[in-house]
Amino acid sequence: MKKRIFTTIISITSIALLFFSILISGFLTYLLSDNVKNEVRRETIELKSLLDTGYNINNISLINPRITLISPIGEVIFDNQHDNLENHLDRPEIKSAIENGVGESLRNSDTIDQNMYYYALRLDDGNILRVAMVTSSFFGILIPVFIISLVILIFIIIICLFVAGHQANAIVKPINELNLAHPNADTIYPELVPLVNNLNLHNEMRKEFSANVSHELKTPLTSISGYAEIMANGIAKEEDIRMFANKIYNESHNLINKINDIIKISKLDENKIDLEIEMANYDQLITSCIEKLDKFIFDKNIKVIYHHINIYGECIVYVMEDILYNLIQNAIKYNKTNGTVFINLSEDKDNVLIKIKDTGIGISKAELPRIYERFYRVDKSHNTAIEGSGLGLSIVKHGVGLHHGSIECDSDLGIQTTFYLKFPKKLK
Ligand code: ADP
Repeated sequence: MKKRIFTTIISITSIALLFFSILISGFLTYLLSDNVKNEVRRETIELKSLLDTGYNINNISLINPRITLISPIGEVIFDNQHDNLENHLDRPEIKSAIENGVGESLRNSDTIDQNMYYYALRLDDGNILRVAMVTSSFFGILIPVFIISLVILIFIIIICLFVAGHQANAIVKPINELNLAHPNADTIYPELVPLVNNLNLHNEMRKEFSANVSHELKTPLTSISGYAEIMANGIAKEEDIRMFANKIYNESHNLINKINDIIKISKLDENKIDLEIEMANYDQLITSCIEKLDKFIFDKNIKVIYHHINIYGECIVYVMEDILYNLIQNAIKYNKTNGTVFINLSEDKDNVLIKIKDTGIGISKAELPRIYERFYRVDKSHNTAIEGSGLGLSIVKHGVGLHHGSIECDSDLGIQTTFYLKFPKKLK
């Protein structure tokens, strides 16, 4: 955290200083060269009026700015800084002054950090008067500005070394001191309130989950213990012993299913599952689920309508098997005797589409939004005859999430229930 705060501040400051240096240098270059230009022009005009009235240029004792007098054929007649200069007819400002009476030019001097500004005017006698002065170039200004910025940056780095440590401590300390079992939103800064609220919600859910688990396991265990007690006391008649043993067998089976569901949901919660993605044939997955549910289909005389079609998609195979098994099992469990289950497998360009419809007891519109909740069983009193943990659909929903898919349910009480599933074909 300390390192992160430090690098963030330093990166932002460095970028800001770099921009600042470039901007300031650009602005100063413009301002300074504008001043120099005005100054040179003013001096040239003054000098021209002096020379036009007959003043002898050789009397000028100035060294700065550079003053040059050039004949109309380019010969240098006078220069206050250099001797024996070559012909100047090729200089742009001279050319322009010969043609138009006035000319100017800005050229790089020998050093990269300086420019030379030249301003030339044609005198009444046809000669060209040129005045030149040094003006700073963009890089000439950028370098010192950059050095100043660098000094500021070093100063900020030193301050940051202290501030980052302090800030990191201020952020981390309340988190470290948080009582995870009873987090209290009053003792922390506002940005942590969502975390505390999440923790509280999580704690609530954990308590509720434990209470539900105990309740769900207690019910079949109480029955098992009751039947076993009757048998142990010798109260049961000889001919009823088999019936009680059967009940114990069924309840213990029910108990094992519930425990398996609880283990599954806990593993999903803790992300303790193997997420190996494989290319699967959805037809095979559906067919094998139907086969596994053969006994239930036979017992209730359910008609399963499914047309085989080979559709392939990437999935976590055993999670997908669980999703399909749960939904098809529900379509049978909550169906009427002699009912029908329609399973439709199809695809579009990117997705596998599955529809599972039954002609069963249905779910009311009011209960529909709650069916994916843990341990939720629609109208518990009616459902006690049908075995279940109320965890199946929450396992399904979790599995659908792992596949980045979607699940929707549509139902009419007493008529039908349809689940629509959509899974992307590519997961990686
Ligand atoms: P259970 O183990 O009770 O079947 P689920 O999580 O699979 O738990 O389902 C939750 C509840 O949703 C069920 O108890 C049942 O009341 C209702 N339900 C699920 N599927 C159907 C269906 N196809 N038709 C009618 N009700 C259903």
